Amino acid sequence: MAKQLRIIPEKCTGCIQCELACSFVQTGTFQPARSLIRVHLFDDQASYAPYACFQCDEAWCLTACPVNAITISAAAAKVVVPELCVGCGLCTIACPYGTVWYSPDTHKAVKCDLCAGDPACAHACPTGAIEYVDTPAADWLGPWAADLNQTHAEMRSGGGA
Ligand code: SF4
Repeated sequence: MAKQLRIIPEKCTGCIQCELACSFVQTGTFQPARSLIRVHLFDDQASYAPYACFQCDEAWCLTACPVNAITISAAAAKVVVPELCVGCGLCTIACPYGTVWYSPDTHKAVKCDLCAGDPACAHACPTGAIEYVDTPAADWLGPWAADLNQTHAEMRSGGGA
């Protein structure tokens, strides 16, 4: 069964341990600005809402990419393949949730990849505001991901698409 992040804003204290853990795993540095999960502060309510890629079934980032540089991992995360990404930024525009970013360091798109199935943000949160839980996968996801990954493998080997 696939798993996904479940965020419980009511438990969030705004400590940004999740952002620090994510940026360290992704870049080797503790820079919240490089985190792929972000904690939004609602000033008026003095409350916090962490948000990250929902790994949504529609995957507009994936379908918008003109060079098929976004694929689906074994953890059912939509992931950017850096070798294929040309940094055009269309996926960052297509994402309705604002959870695909352009990296000024690599000049590629970056997004949550669920840390290959062991998300650091969920481990780091001291209040249990981020859980990594089982979720039923859509029936079409497995075959679709397999086809897409095969296409990418052929592209990387210079053999097709
Ligand atoms: S680590 Fe947990 S409590 Fe801290 S900001 Fe992130 S979600 Fe909120």
